[in-house]
Amino acid sequence: MSIKSRFRFLAGLTVLIAFLGFGVGSAFGDTDIVPGGPWITDTQNVSLKRLNDYPQLVKKLEQIEKTSKGLVELEVIGETNEGRDIYLAKIGYPENDAVMIITQQHGNEVMTTEAALRMVQFLSTGSNKAMEILDELYVLIVPRVNPDGAEMYWRYNVDPDAPARNTSEGFYTSWTAGVGWDINRYHWVTDWTLSTLYQNHPAAYPENPVPEAVAVINAFNYYNPIWIADFHHQGTYVTDEGDSVTSSILWPRHPDVAADVVDLSKQLCVVIFDHMQQFGYSTVTLYPGGTYAGIGRNGYGLAGAGSILVELKGGIGQKQSGMIIKHAYEQMWSIFQATADGSLYEVDPDRSDEIPPRGSWYYKDLPPE
Ligand SMILES: [Zn+2]
Repeated sequence: MSIKSRFRFLAGLTVLIAFLGFGVGSAFGDTDIVPGGPWITDTQNVSLKRLNDYPQLVKKLEQIEKTSKGLVELEVIGETNEGRDIYLAKIGYPENDAVMIITQQHGNEVMTTEAALRMVQFLSTGSNKAMEILDELYVLIVPRVNPDGAEMYWRYNVDPDAPARNTSEGFYTSWTAGVGWDINRYHWVTDWTLSTLYQNHPAAYPENPVPEAVAVINAFNYYNPIWIADFHHQGTYVTDEGDSVTSSILWPRHPDVAADVVDLSKQLCVVIFDHMQQFGYSTVTLYPGGTYAGIGRNGYGLAGAGSILVELKGGIGQKQSGMIIKHAYEQMWSIFQATADGSLYEVDPDRSDEIPPRGSWYYKDLPPE
């Protein structure tokens, strides 16, 4: 990370923390929030030591590959507009069924990548526990789909040619022109010409203009995973019972996704829901997501793979970052394990009805009058 981009990263984080405005005043009494705390206060700084910037991420991945005795192979699946390589870590044996995890499509959703990196590291050891997975599955992980946006510490990719936001035109971008695209609206996996952007602007956008989405699509189409899980961060939500929501999950909701694909995706969600019950800090709820076909969750479902969205709690300080990283890691582990031992397929998909709604956005400060 250059000094300039490191400054932008720090500035972005400071702004984020200021925006979240963790103060003493609260619309809820502090004691209303059951596990999921503690919260950061105005005087705490978020430790950046946990977070790997791009050069550190690449260095760690290369070290893991080197010491994995052939168990981990890195592949560059694309290049960003700023010239950064997008890495896919391939773990295990290509003859096994492939499963795929992607993280940090949105540049400022950082802890998911830390969890993914730890998972790559753990599987690379080839321990007995790791081999329970790798004897059955070829694990594909893209840690940080959006390295340019991560360096800027913002949601979008980086593209000076991106127009200002106008979703009816297919411009899922920043409100400011010249910032970048929301990668998670451009997973038109089977046919770009179906996209809202192409339909409105076929001459200007004969191809998908979002290289990070294209990289994931190409890897998906090449390796043909049985499922894909897409990890994000949302804000902070609280259930009607007052529990702080640690993650929200969802399956494809586009009406053209095949019923068996929806069922497999629901099975993955139920596995996560069940697995996370054992952790006192965990409250898993349903993400209220829509049907837009270009969202990864819907796009890969339309392409015939099990496909889920996982949103981790956002707006967290250093005291919670470790918990959230572990949370995401456990979610990844649960779906690897259930797929490898076959228990995934025994799950009743209708049990997805048991996953409670997400709850309300939580304001630490009183909302403005
Ligand atoms: Zn996101």
